[in-house]
Amino acid sequence: MTILYRDPMFQRHLTGRHPESPARLAAIDRRLTERGLIDKCGKGEIRKATREELARLHGGAYVDEVRELATGGGGRIENDTVVSPESFDIACHAAGTAMAAVDAVLTGTDSTALVLARPPGHHALPNSAMGFCLFNNVALAAEHALRVHDLDRVLIVDWDVHHGNGTQDVFYQREDVTFFSAHRSPFYPGTGSVDETGSGRGLGHTFNLPVRFGITRREYLARFEQSLRDAAAKCSPQLVLISAGFDAHQRDPIGSLGLDTEDFGTLTTLLQSIANEYCGGRLVSLLEGGYDVEALADSVALHLETLLGQWVLFPEP
Ligand SMILES: [Zn+2]
Repeated sequence: MTILYRDPMFQRHLTGRHPESPARLAAIDRRLTERGLIDKCGKGEIRKATREELARLHGGAYVDEVRELATGGGGRIENDTVVSPESFDIACHAAGTAMAAVDAVLTGTDSTALVLARPPGHHALPNSAMGFCLFNNVALAAEHALRVHDLDRVLIVDWDVHHGNGTQDVFYQREDVTFFSAHRSPFYPGTGSVDETGSGRGLGHTFNLPVRFGITRREYLARFEQSLRDAAAKCSPQLVLISAGFDAHQRDPIGSLGLDTEDFGTLTTLLQSIANEYCGGRLVSLLEGGYDVEALADSVALHLETLLGQWVLFPEP
């Protein structure tokens, strides 16, 4: 069974006329309900990240800046990123729920979890917001797995159409988290070239697959699999995390790499095979981007259906 984390709270991060809007989660919720998927999942309990948990990766002054902007009524914290009055509390819950999903998958009997929260996180830097993101949910989830569950090796796979620059920055010099990102290039945010491979002890633990607009779906999937298998072999992960953005979909208004809905099923199956091979199927997926709400809803539904369809013998190792 897959543990599903969703809550109406995550629709109260209000962004005005903005592609990263509450309508995204509303559309996903409708589709999952129509397909009868919610009742097939375990119900995850959302929770708030503590200040100490955020401080594992984010500076205290930055955390205060987000909180004060929210309590002061909100506004733009940077060009692309909006904070509304409840956004600090909601962002703390998005990060905390990512950690709750890690706890569940590492200690319970269910090996997979999907967190449908916003704001997204993979562009967020330790000391600044960026690209619709406030706190880096996937990076905090990885850090939580290492510190609280004594894991040594976590693999983060980022298939959002944008490079996960914030996540890469956090772990660039570390060997305990291997980061793989496939993304459109040249494109926002401009990072993620193949020669960004990590530094110091982290050398060889960052894998970037930049792909040009116009790549065929078949070639994208083939290159994704080859590069991801290299990253997984380097990491030998004890847990796999997904930065699951769906903005590489061909209908996406701000992203697009020409993918079709079914390709997110193929990617999910690939991630399951990696997780099965290395870590007993333990996989936590966190929503990132995806801005055509109907294409997003279809893609998330297929992602979840695929997660649910995989029955993993448990536990090992
Ligand atoms: Zn994106």
